[in-house]
Amino acid sequence: MTATQVTAYVGIGANLGDALGSVQRAILQLDRLPATRLSAQSSLFRSAPIDAGGDDYVNAVVRLDTQLAAERLLAELQAIEHASGRERSYRNAPRTLDLDLLLYGHDVIASDALTVPHPRMTQRAFVLIPLLQIDPLVNIPGRGPAHAFAPGVMAQTIQKIA
Ligand code: AMP
Repeated sequence: MTATQVTAYVGIGANLGDALGSVQRAILQLDRLPATRLSAQSSLFRSAPIDAGGDDYVNAVVRLDTQLAAERLLAELQAIEHASGRERSYRNAPRTLDLDLLLYGHDVIASDALTVPHPRMTQRAFVLIPLLQIDPLVNIPGRGPAHAFAPGVMAQTIQKIA
C-alpha cells in the first residue's frame, strides 16, 4: 500500500550563535527526512524578535511533500531542534533553532502535542511573508487564504537577506 503524500509547511527560526548557518543546516536536514522531499524553500529573512529580547532572527519557510504522519513529522522537527543544541530556559528565550509545523495538508489538528494550523502563523510577518513567497495562493484550513492576513503584519520589520 502506498502511504498518502501530504504537503506540509515548516517555519524555521534561529537567533543564537550562527543563526544563518543553523537555518541553512536545518533546511538540509529537512530535505533528508525519511519519506519526505523538500519541494520549495523561501528566501532567508531577518526579523526583529517579538515578545523577547536578543538578536534579530533569521527565518525561512519550506514546503515538504511527506508521507510522515503529522505527529511523526513533529517528532522529527524536535529531533532536529535538539540536535542543534537548543535549550529552552524560559518562554520565548533565544533559541539556536525553532521549527514550527505551520500547515499539514488540509488538516486541522488540536491534540496535546500539536496545534495545526500553527495558531500564531497569521500574526507573524516572519512566517506569512516567506510562506506567501513560496505559495501566494496557499489556504489556511479554517481561516481562509493566507494573503488576507498580510496587511495585518505589514508594520513588523522583516528584511530579505541578500
Ligand atoms: P515552541 O516553543 O514554539 O517551539 O513550542 C514547542 C511546543 O509546542 C512543543 O511542546 C510542541 O508539542 C508544541 N506544538 C504545538 N503545536 C505545534 C506546531 N504546530 N508546531 C510545533 N510545535 C507545536
